[in-house]
Amino acid sequence: MEVDGMKEIFQRSVPQRNAKYIKYIGDGDTKPSQSLSKDSTIFYRKVECVGHIQKRMGARLRKLKTMNRGKKLSDGKSISGKNRLTDKFIDTITTYYGNAIRQNNSSVSDMRQAIWPIYCHYRSTDEEPMHHFCPIGDTSWCKYQKAVATNSASLFKHKNIVPIAVMDEIKPIIAELSAPKIAEKNVGGKTQKR
Ligand SMILES: [Zn+2]
Repeated sequence: MEVDGMKEIFQRSVPQRNAKYIKYIGDGDTKPSQSLSKDSTIFYRKVECVGHIQKRMGARLRKLKTMNRGKKLSDGKSISGKNRLTDKFIDTITTYYGNAIRQNNSSVSDMRQAIWPIYCHYRSTDEEPMHHFCPIGDTSWCKYQKAVATNSASLFKHKNIVPIAVMDEIKPIIAELSAPKIAEKNVGGKTQKR
């Protein structure tokens, strides 16, 4: 890939995906480092392995949904249906999971600490809010933490709550895909064969 083309793609990724990259995969005849390093606001990262592991989360959740088809969960209802394990919810978890890996790729513990809040966030109810690990401040993706930042947490109501019976089914997959051995593969310069 030409350096200019690569640079354009990397720069575009910041406004579009709110991700900064600190490494990249280039082919043998690409020597972009000098040109790219002039721009100190952009970091480069190896993209492909994150995309790969992000897809694995989506695949595992879809498989869970398929495997449990026709089965009753602990609340006596099916795994799918409104406000349960919908395709939209699978996509949301998968996207947040990918972002957590991308944004915390310098340490395994940071990465794990960014993945679990996704679970806790969606496990939250008005009676039992579990947003303590969600990013704080009024720019947070967590609406509860946004409310905290604007002193309106007491008025906050959880919408579209995913039942605990469904969240319990998801939990082992989150645990498995945030395990150190998985997280380690996505940290820093650890190479993965293409
Ligand atoms: Zn939250």
